[in-house]
Formats: sequence, structure tokens, C-alpha cells
Amino acid sequence: MISFTIDIDWAPEEVIEDTLSLFEKYKVKCTIFSTHYSKVLEVSDKNLFEIGIHPNFNTILSGGARTIDNILDELLFIHPNARGIRSHSMLQSTMFLQKFAERKLLYDANHFLPYQTGIKPFKLWTGMVRIPYNWEDDIHWMYGYSFDSCKLDIEDKGLNVINFHPVHIFLNSESSERYTKAKPYYNYADKLIKFRNTETMGTRDLFISLLEKVSSNGVTSKKLLDVANEYIAGEKG
Ligand SMILES: [Zn+2]
Repeated sequence: MISFTIDIDWAPEEVIEDTLSLFEKYKVKCTIFSTHYSKVLEVSDKNLFEIGIHPNFNTILSGGARTIDNILDELLFIHPNARGIRSHSMLQSTMFLQKFAERKLLYDANHFLPYQTGIKPFKLWTGMVRIPYNWEDDIHWMYGYSFDSCKLDIEDKGLNVINFHPVHIFLNSESSERYTKAKPYYNYADKLIKFRNTETMGTRDLFISLLEKVSSNGVTSKKLLDVANEYIAGEKG
């Protein structure tokens, strides 16, 4: 059982479209945490894709003039149907969690438990559901792991929630060095493509192998909103 998520992190349209087209090709569902308005997201197939929000609160820490409220309100204006949230850099505190709940968000995906098995949703004191996640592309290379395996058994009946970034799928990133070199060209897909890893297994290779496994072995893929709703339904008995 697997839930794919992506944090789009201001990727250009071509890069977002590249990732979405792979999910479409394999007919695998995904929850997208969005940082900005994107036409590609607006017209995306809502049976396959759920859109949550991915606000950047880091600017508050660096002394910016913006507040938690206006950052949340701006993104929810773009994505009024969003029910889920993951903060950029996972930034959170009890005050943030209160603000999320005030906006009637249903769940958050801010709790990272790398490679843990048996992860489960649980209820927070605000009434929101928290769905932990147990894999992320850039953290995988920070551990120094190879991209020939995600090190999780996705055919396991238990929940696995994994997170990719479209830019790393596009670059087939396998290390922070590759990303650092490509980053100055972040907004230009035609330039980014020149930095794509073709030498060793990378994020794109692993992503495609997971999609193949899910579609050919009948592994259940669920959007996080469905995971949250099923948890709530189960709670009510
Ligand atoms: Zn992010």
C-alpha cells in the first residue's frame, strides 16, 4: 500500500507536467503539495491528483514581513479545495497547527519518519489528522543510499507515504552535488535537462520503477485525503 506525494517547490510548468505525465501513464494516484498557482495543476485530472498546500514559512524565520495567516490565506485562495498541508521544510509549531485547524484543513503530512514501517495516521489535539511519511528523495541521498531501491516494501499491506520533488524526477538526481550545479537554472527546463543524471540510478529511475511495480503488481495507491477520510470513518466505527 502506497501513497505518493510530491512537493512542487516552485518548479516550472514543464517540470511539473513531466512528473504528472508519468503518474498519468501508469494511472497511479498522487497528492500534490503546491507552492504556487500552476495552470498544469489547475487542469490536472482530479480523479488521479489531489491538491494540498505547501506553504513556505521559512521567510518568517528570516525576518520577513509576512505572517502565518497571510501565507496560508494566499495559498488557500489559489487552492480553495485543499484539505491537506505539508509545510516547506516541514516547518511547524503548536501555533502553526492551530492556524491550520482554524482554516478547516483536514490533515497534515508534516511528520517525517524515514524508513519506518507500520506508520499510521493519528488524531491531533486540534482535531486534524496527521499522516506521517516515511520516504523522501533528497533525504535518501543524504543517508548515502543508492537509488536502485527505496528500502521500503511497498507491497506490504501497511501504509507507506513517499515524497518526491518534480525537479529531482526531472534531473534524475542522485546527489546534492548534481542539484547544486543545476539549481541556478531551476526555472528553465530546457537548461535543466542538460544536468540530467544519465550515469547512475537516480530519483527518476526509482520513481518509474515504483510506478511500474504499483501498476503491474496491483499495489493499492491512495491519495492522502482518502487515507485521512478512511481513518476518520474507522474512528467513528
Ligand atoms: Zn518543499
